[in-house]
Order: sequence, then structure tokens, then C-alpha cells
Amino acid sequence: MVPIQMVDLKRQYNKIKPQVDAAIQEVLESSAFINGGAVQKFSAELQQYLDIKHVIPCANGTDALQIAMMALGLQPGDEVITPSFTFIATAEVIAMLQLKPVFVDVDPQTYCLDVAAIEKAITPKTKAIVPVHLYGHVTDMEPLMALAARHNLYVIEDNAQAIGADYTFADGTTKKAGTIGHIGCTSFFPSKNLGCYGDGGAIFTNDDALAAQLRMVANHGQSARYYHDVVGCNSRLDTIQAAVLRIKLPLLDEYIKARRAVADAYDAAFAGMPQITTPFRAANSTHVFHQYTLQLHDADRNKLQQYLQEKNVPAMIYYPVPAHRQKMFADFGGAAFDLPVTDNLTTRVISLPIHTEMDNDQLDHIIQSVKSFLNNPPA
Ligand SMILES: *Cc1c(COP(=O)(O)O)cnc(C)c1O
Repeated sequence: MVPIQMVDLKRQYNKIKPQVDAAIQEVLESSAFINGGAVQKFSAELQQYLDIKHVIPCANGTDALQIAMMALGLQPGDEVITPSFTFIATAEVIAMLQLKPVFVDVDPQTYCLDVAAIEKAITPKTKAIVPVHLYGHVTDMEPLMALAARHNLYVIEDNAQAIGADYTFADGTTKKAGTIGHIGCTSFFPSKNLGCYGDGGAIFTNDDALAAQLRMVANHGQSARYYHDVVGCNSRLDTIQAAVLRIKLPLLDEYIKARRAVADAYDAAFAGMPQITTPFRAANSTHVFHQYTLQLHDADRNKLQQYLQEKNVPAMIYYPVPAHRQKMFADFGGAAFDLPVTDNLTTRVISLPIHTEMDNDQLDHIIQSVKSFLNNPPA
């Protein structure tokens, strides 16, 4: 059996090797390593895929979030509502800009921001909400956008894990995750659903003025060459990365389908097992399964992970410590936030391998390994 990995980037590359190698070679020949033709072309293609007016490429997903908050003119002390059950970048960027992260609990089913819990966290200082579409499931954006409009708040979607997911509104219209808020941010880190071969990221918006501001902030605050209007940063998507992404974007929907097929097989295999809650799929969101994450009940997670390791099945805990309990937020009083769902989930979740190259032998082996541990737990 081919060794099982959380993501199998090598086998995915092998299938597109001639195209990727040629595209990289073309960049090398042109030597336009920064802002070469592929950057503009990829941005335009992603814009079309997402059905959004502006795509601003940048260096990574963390920068995307930072540039978004800078472009909105948020000021030190302003409060930004975000989940604690996320990758640290979301909260880190807020703190780095001297804004105040205000952590709100997640929904026990979707693991995304609990929209009903947001209102209680809003104060006169609240300026923005940053929902995270965790594991590839979209936050319930329709009520969130209504709430944000009532309180005059910006919404920045952290879409690093859900590119390609669809959200359906009550009237039946559908939008891509990341295109519903005022700004959407994503990452092209290699293991993401649309990953490049290094670092990369992008910012989306439908607002022309905001797009101009985002472009300016990402490029040293420059309005015209060597005229710098605001303090910005230097954040670019390499031409080589854009060239790789141009090959992979047309395959994204296929990649999502392959991930979903793995998730369907896991769901079917684990259905009815009392020790397992399989991922929830809300009627108004598709799930693009950046991760396939189980919730365990009356089962020893460490021992399961160890047992799987012995069976050559990797499994990961995303995330063992929620943002509000990280040392970086200790002085700021992070632990004072009362987030029972988040705290509970961090002790129970475990993510199984899911990627575009999984074969049936691998899938059977993973499923049998999980089942044999849970059905005959060691004393
Ligand atoms: C990966 C990720 C990021 C950061 O992306 P980088 O490209 O690694 O900077 C931010 N938020 C979430 C939820 C992520 O999964």
C-alpha cells in the first residue's frame, strides 16, 4: 500500500507534472519573477471562478488578513470579534495591529462562529467580525451579515480552509465562501485545498474603493510609483506560484469532489458508532473538507492517535489549544473568555487523512484501524 499521509502533494503533482514543469520553466525563461504575466492572469481567473469584482494577490494568508484590517483603517484599541477555535493567524494578526481580539464561541455543529452569540460581545468599540470557515464548512453568513449591518461592522472572511465552498441564502441565491463579507482572505499554503508550491495568498472584495486601498497597503502604501500615502507592507504572490496556481485552479472543483468522496466513505463507515460524531453539513453550506474531523466520545484520543500511528495512519489535532488559551494572549487575559464549546471541542477533535489522491486500500485501512481501536478499546 502507498504510505498514507495527511495530504499527498507528491502524487497530486505527478498527475500534473508536465503542465506544472512547463509553466515553471516558462517563468524561468521570462525571468519575470515578480509581477510576471501569470500573476495578473491567475488573479483574473480566480476572480471569474469566485464571481467577485477584485482579487488582490499577496504573499500568504496571514498577510491577507493583516492587509484587510489595515485597509479598513482599524485603529489600536478597536475590537474585532473572531472565534478562538481556529488557526492562530486569525487572532495573531488582530493583536499584532494592536486591535483587541474578542473571542466568541463556535456553533457545536458547524465549528464556525456561533452567530447567535456574537451580539452579546458587541461593544461601542467593536469594528469588525472575522468569521473562519473552519475545516471547509461555511459560517452561517446570512444572519451574520444582517447582524453586522445592524451594528455597522465590517466582515472579513477567513476563507483559508474553504475556497470553493458554496453558501446558499434563504432566497436560493448562492455565493462562494469568501465573497459574502466586505473582504475575503485566503491562503495558498501547499496543503490548502488550492495550494501552490510555496507561500501564497489572496484578498477578495466587490468594493472598488476598498480594492484600491487593499492594493495600496499590499504595495508599500504606494498610490503612484514612489509616492506613498499610507504605511503599508510588501506582500506579493510570486510569478512561479501564480503559474502553479493557474494549473491547479481549473482542477479545484475536481479536487473538492475527490475530498468529498473520501468524506462520504468515512461518514458511511462511522455512521451509528456512539464514540464518533462525524462532520456536520448544514443545508445552506457545501463542505469542501479541508479537514475531515471527528469528535470523539468516551474514547481516549491520545491512545487512538498512538494506535493509528502504529498502523501507519497519521492523524492530527486541529487545534489542541484554542487561541484564547495560548500563551501569547495570557497577559491580555485571553483565558477570561468563557467559551465552553471551544474548550470542549479542543479536547475531543481528531482529523483523519483526507486529500485528492486517496485510494480504496488506504481508505479501508484507515477506517478499519479507527474501528478496531474504538470497538476494542485497550484497557
Ligand atoms: C492556513 C490558515 C491561515 C494562514 O495562512 P498562511 O498562508 O499560512 O499565512 C489563516 N487562517 C486559517 C484558518 C488557516 O487555516
